[in-house]
Amino acid sequence: MINFKKTSILPALATLCFPPLCIACGALLEEEREEPFCPACLSRINRAEGSFCSICGKPLEAPSSDGGHVCGDCIIHPPPFSRVRTLGIYEGPLLEAIHSFKYRKNMAAGERLGYMMARRNYDLLNPADYDVVVPVPLHPAKLRKRGFNQALVLAGKIARRFDRPINFTSLKKIAEGPPQVGLGRKRRERNIRGTFAVADGGRLQKTRVLLVDDVYTTGSTVRECARVLKQSGATDVAVVALARTRSDGHGRQAEGDGTDE
Ligand SMILES: [Zn+2]
Ligand SMILES: [Zn+2]
Repeated sequence: MINFKKTSILPALATLCFPPLCIACGALLEEEREEPFCPACLSRINRAEGSFCSICGKPLEAPSSDGGHVCGDCIIHPPPFSRVRTLGIYEGPLLEAIHSFKYRKNMAAGERLGYMMARRNYDLLNPADYDVVVPVPLHPAKLRKRGFNQALVLAGKIARRFDRPINFTSLKKIAEGPPQVGLGRKRRERNIRGTFAVADGGRLQKTRVLLVDDVYTTGSTVRECARVLKQSGATDVAVVALARTRSDGHGRQAEGDGTDE
């Protein structure tokens, strides 16, 4: 019997037949095939590395040298999550890549974006500090329509890299709320209440949860997920997502929030 894991000719053959391409612009990649972007696209990703809120990760206008700033939103309405970190702003090559994954069902793109997420050094967030990886779930009807949960693909990569269990059965989306585009924070929070639930909370007692989403827009989805996870006994919930919108989604198409627009 052939031991495929030890056979080095297979990856070489795969590279020959399916050369690794940049998932944003299609340029041939010369380096590792799991990297999602060519160097040019990588350099165009806005990582929002200046000054940002140490909790929700929102870029801040006022410069901060110590990285300890907290935005007004997080001070006035302390979120149930401890951190949100992303690969960058939802625009340019990152947006292209996410669209390819989510809407054109390019699963290889999703795998490689997950690889990038799992290898990023996040500011004040180390995935190794968490006990379990939980993807933001889709409503069953949405899951049937799309055929896959994009957050689960990403979460799988992170769980594997850090050798953590992945739990995609406890947190459930039990109802679809109305569209959140252009609504204020209070209305969004009211709309999203009761759309997520934890099925077997006992499994999450005293765990630190790393919640995985694709695009962070208004934050109402991950706020609600974190709220129900903590209600079920999670001691900490931190969030990693592929990208965040520049603003909080007011007046623009909220593509990401809810992972399923
Ligand atoms: Zn490229
Ligand atoms: Zn904040």
